[in-house]
Amino acid sequence: MMSRIAKLRERMVQKDLPAFLVSSSSNRRYLSGFTGTAGSLLISLEKAFLLTDFRYVEQARAQCPGWEIVRVDKDFYESLATILGDYQIDKLGFEVDYITFHQYQQMREAFKGVSLEPLKGLVEELRVVKDEEEIAAIARAVRLIDKTFEYVMNHIRPGRIEREVVLELEFFARRAGATGMSFETILASGERAALPHGVASGKVINKGDLVVLDCGAVLDGYCSDFTRSLVAGAAPAPWQQEIYNIVLEAQEIGLETLRAGVKGSEVDSAVRNYIAKYGYEEYFGHSTGHGLGIDVHEEPRLSAVSDRVLEEGMVVTVEPGIYLPGKGGVRIEDVAVVRKNGCEILTKSPKKELITLY
Ligand code: ZN
Ligand code: ZN
Repeated sequence: MMSRIAKLRERMVQKDLPAFLVSSSSNRRYLSGFTGTAGSLLISLEKAFLLTDFRYVEQARAQCPGWEIVRVDKDFYESLATILGDYQIDKLGFEVDYITFHQYQQMREAFKGVSLEPLKGLVEELRVVKDEEEIAAIARAVRLIDKTFEYVMNHIRPGRIEREVVLELEFFARRAGATGMSFETILASGERAALPHGVASGKVINKGDLVVLDCGAVLDGYCSDFTRSLVAGAAPAPWQQEIYNIVLEAQEIGLETLRAGVKGSEVDSAVRNYIAKYGYEEYFGHSTGHGLGIDVHEEPRLSAVSDRVLEEGMVVTVEPGIYLPGKGGVRIEDVAVVRKNGCEILTKSPKKELITLY
């Protein structure tokens, strides 16, 4: 954790910033290891403070050695103003994405003689490249979802209600140790499978439906993200098999393209061009993938506009899809670590065949 702070301080020095206020809960966890749900960090070039309330003081002391834990009893901004005064800090960076306009007004009120510096992505930039400990945590979250998928395949069949299947899925994941789901589980069958983000509904899964399942589990603070597409109760129809084969091949091309030194947009275009070859480009309306870690959607993006050059240790999803309105859709999503000469695919669930579940 302390090497993360050291890296942040290097950036603060570059920006001539004597202190930085961290309000994002994900950034807070990344820098301090604190898992409580309330608190802010104030990091100066010499000191690191964690401000939290009565409920979390003991937890913070246990989880954050080396941090000065400040208990906030009344007004958060007044407590902060006292520290800024004590250490004669006259300039404070803050996270524009995590401060409301009202909070900004409160800071303006409370911090007399302190100039406020709006900043974006300072800690997020440190989080883009994962260390091996983080990669191991993501791999555990991916393994958990692989196991969950293996289990839930027994429940995806004609006659079952989408939401009931998701309930089974989430029960299993929680029993296996997940502290939560990375996002609301998507389970979309039949025509609904043409909705790229069709969260589970009260619809009954019918015989012959394509079923898209997209889910993720949170484990040790890190997310997984996973999609498979299946057919319920009948051999795949030719159109289902056709779009499945194209999406699978496109996804594998994406994974083959993925390596340190290529741009996010290059992975996206490799995938998109393959789908376009078969005339389905207008049915693939989202980007190819995204980074994941403490948050399920992080940098880098694998999209047409992503100029970012991929580096070793970035962790991304590759998840093309084809969605045919009124008929259904297919998406396949794996998580992979960018390595020097290729990528390491963490997801192990089968995908070679379009599986029918009876
Ligand atoms: Zn995803
Ligand atoms: Zn997903």
